[in-house]
Amino acid sequence: MSLRAEASIDAAAIAANAGVLRAAAAPRTLLCAVVKADGYGHGAVTAARAARSDWLAVATAQEAAGLRAAALTDVRILVMGALSPPERAIALAADADVVAWEPEFLDGLPTDARVHVKLDSGMGRLGTRSPEQATTVAERLADRGQLAGLMTHFATADDPGDDGFFAAQLARFTDWVEPLRARFLEAVVHAANSAATFREPAAHFDMVRAGVALYGLDPANADPATHGLRPALSLRSYVGAVKACAAGESAGYGRRFVSERDTMLATVPIGYGDGWRRGLTNRAEVVVGGRRYAQVGTVSMDNVTVDLGPGPTDVRPGDPVTLIGEGITAEEVAHRLETINYEVTCGLTARVMRRPA
Ligand SMILES: *Cc1c(COP(=O)(O)O)cnc(C)c1O
Repeated sequence: MSLRAEASIDAAAIAANAGVLRAAAAPRTLLCAVVKADGYGHGAVTAARAARSDWLAVATAQEAAGLRAAALTDVRILVMGALSPPERAIALAADADVVAWEPEFLDGLPTDARVHVKLDSGMGRLGTRSPEQATTVAERLADRGQLAGLMTHFATADDPGDDGFFAAQLARFTDWVEPLRARFLEAVVHAANSAATFREPAAHFDMVRAGVALYGLDPANADPATHGLRPALSLRSYVGAVKACAAGESAGYGRRFVSERDTMLATVPIGYGDGWRRGLTNRAEVVVGGRRYAQVGTVSMDNVTVDLGPGPTDVRPGDPVTLIGEGITAEEVAHRLETINYEVTCGLTARVMRRPA
């Protein structure tokens, strides 16, 4: 029988998606599997092992340390995020590469650190907007034998109607990086996220950094099958109780569902405490016994209710309930929440047991 809230993670799907990304990238392009935020909610270690990529990338120093502690020792790890001095020390102690863009970053930098220089070509987040400054930092690192990479990040790779912004970012980065690339052969040049990997071969350079597609999620929140991706996560719970609800009776906090008819309700022990968000109140569907039913009433911390329709029903306590999977995609849930698939899987909390599919 199911646990109250469990996510099964299909490692074979992650491996197949890594194959799709490798096939989409030019032959000698390296694959960097982005496993930040616990592998977008799938489990960073599971994802890293399944992807068998050339590199791993995370956002934080602690995430890098966690991968090393799980015996992922033979792979280069890049910490992409900003690092405070104590965090930088943790990242370097985990033998991870780090990112820089200010000359001050070199102050006190241990001599064995490996550093990637980031140009902000238009994302407006981390990195320097100044190609001259980025070049200065790269030159100083190269003098010390510490230059490991040259990078940027795209803001609109997932949006084909971006009025040329992606192309402009790519041109800005290419103009900066091509002369440096010729001078510093040791530097790995990388820019593409999942969307850019599918969109533009000229953005692949030496390595692509793919996250969302690895998990079988579509970078543009459309159908993952378009790129041949297989969703790796399904979310299940079970029927905790079945009861009659007469016309005019309600279920849940605030009586946000009042039944218009005599019906049968199932209570399913999963809620926003598991990451099944309250915004799904009266807005989601679930699958029980191969059929879709409407989830009704307020999503509570620990429970939701499902309208099984007028009785009799063959749904019984203990029956498995699928919230993501069996035709319900993370993209569908994201649309209902007016968010993106990334947030749906990242938002599943630690209370959701992850287990192999
Ligand atoms: C998260 C992230 C990625 C991966 O992006 P996806 O859209 O998930 O493929 C790549 N690069 C940087 C800098 C990131 O923060």
